[in-house]
Amino acid sequence: MQAQAMFSQAMISQGVKDIGMLSQHRVKVYIRCRKCGETFILRGVRDAKGRVETGFKRCVCDNEEDFDIEPLS
Ligand SMILES: [Zn+2]
Repeated sequence: MQAQAMFSQAMISQGVKDIGMLSQHRVKVYIRCRKCGETFILRGVRDAKGRVETGFKRCVCDNEEDFDIEPLS
C-alpha cells in the first residue's frame, strides 16, 4: 500500500512539470513585408513577455525591420 502511495506522488510531480513546459507555447506567426508585400508563415515560441521569437531575419527584398507581424491561433 505504501509503495502505491509513493507512485501516485511521483505521477503528480510529473504532471506539474509538464504544465511548466507548456508555458512555452509554439505558435504560428504570419509575417508580411511592408515593402514588397511578401508573406511568410513561420513557427515561433512565445516567451514569458508575450513576444514571439521566430528566428526570422529578413525578407527576400532585404527589408529587415518593416513588417506586419501577427500570431495565428
Ligand atoms: Zn520584402
